[in-house]
Amino acid sequence: MKYLAERNEVLQTAQEISAARLVNGTWGNVSRRVDEQPLMVITPSGMDYNTMTLEDMALIDFDFNLVEGEYKPSSETPLHLAIYKNRSDIGAIVHVHSPWATAFAVAHQDIPVILEETAQVIGHPVKVASYARCGSSELATNVINNLGKHDKALLLANHGLLGMGKNTADALRVCYIAEKTAMIASYATMLGAVNTLNPEDIKVLSEEFKYYGQKKK
Ligand SMILES: [Zn+2]
Repeated sequence: MKYLAERNEVLQTAQEISAARLVNGTWGNVSRRVDEQPLMVITPSGMDYNTMTLEDMALIDFDFNLVEGEYKPSSETPLHLAIYKNRSDIGAIVHVHSPWATAFAVAHQDIPVILEETAQVIGHPVKVASYARCGSSELATNVINNLGKHDKALLLANHGLLGMGKNTADALRVCYIAEKTAMIASYATMLGAVNTLNPEDIKVLSEEFKYYGQKKK
């Protein structure tokens, strides 16, 4: 079996979004670009994340052909493909239906940059792509039309959230922070004021975060 590392990332992440209750049941989906190949690994459609195996993953080329795998790929495969084709910097996509972010998607309101971690991990307000039915090519088009050149997160109107990154860990982190930011923004709304960070601080925080962490000497 080829592309074990990518399959493993997708499987582990799918299990985590389920365990973390970012999705219920088999909703949501996860994909990983196979570097230097026009290929991606994506979760199969409608399968239980907890019993899914590495072999069950669908390997898809960029013309939407199933290259390897026994099962139908996620119904959102056109959306994932459109993003990879338009953004060569994105290596993984995590799509969830987490409740606080989805509340913003229902309200058709951007998630504002109100926390330092929002600035660090996402770095921009999370916009809302206009509504189209799940799995449709129109949804993929709406996503591409609303996705900024460097955006890492996007809401799908009346549906859910997309997190993107270099790998699945990055994309998942984006989902967690978007969900937390949406929750805090909702509470702050109840308290009467949602104060966003200023653009200069957002820029500096986001830049600094790229170099954050420990490096082995
Ligand atoms: Zn969905």
